[in-house]
Amino acid sequence: MANRAGASSSSHQEPEFKDDDLDSIYGAESGWVEARTSCDHLASLSSDLHHIPTPDTPCNRCQHPSENWLCLSCKEVLCSRFVNKHMLQHYQQQMNHCIALSYSDLSVWCFACDSYLDAQVIAQLRPVHETAYILKFDEAPPVRAFGGLPKLIRGERQHQEI
Ligand SMILES: [Zn+2]
Ligand SMILES: [Zn+2]
Ligand SMILES: [Zn+2]
Repeated sequence: MANRAGASSSSHQEPEFKDDDLDSIYGAESGWVEARTSCDHLASLSSDLHHIPTPDTPCNRCQHPSENWLCLSCKEVLCSRFVNKHMLQHYQQQMNHCIALSYSDLSVWCFACDSYLDAQVIAQLRPVHETAYILKFDEAPPVRAFGGLPKLIRGERQHQEI
């Protein structure tokens, strides 16, 4: 007399992996945005980014005193889109001047990519990021460990702050 059924104990419950969990890692809701590690517009960078204006340089057009952006093509300092949008206008007038560095948090934005760029991964951007960091904080930037996760940088206010 063989008891061959045994089908009664197969109601196993797998915990389901939720996609939502990724949001808590990558911070989709927390104001962190992913920065690109490549950009096709690096040819527009100035050839001399070792000498740049200091972070407290006012906007060249309206003299707004702080949190301005540095054009990495011509090294003009211009205000953000939350002030008088002079950096945005600069890009609209000179489409090849598309990469700018923020003097408020030292993030790098490419208008053409419509994205932040990872200045510590992209070799052409690393020196100017370092120079700006030293001008702003008077010390060299901390060395970042390169892990498997994409670089996340903090959007101080919102995505696309220029
Ligand atoms: Zn301005
Ligand atoms: Zn420019
Ligand atoms: Zn780009």
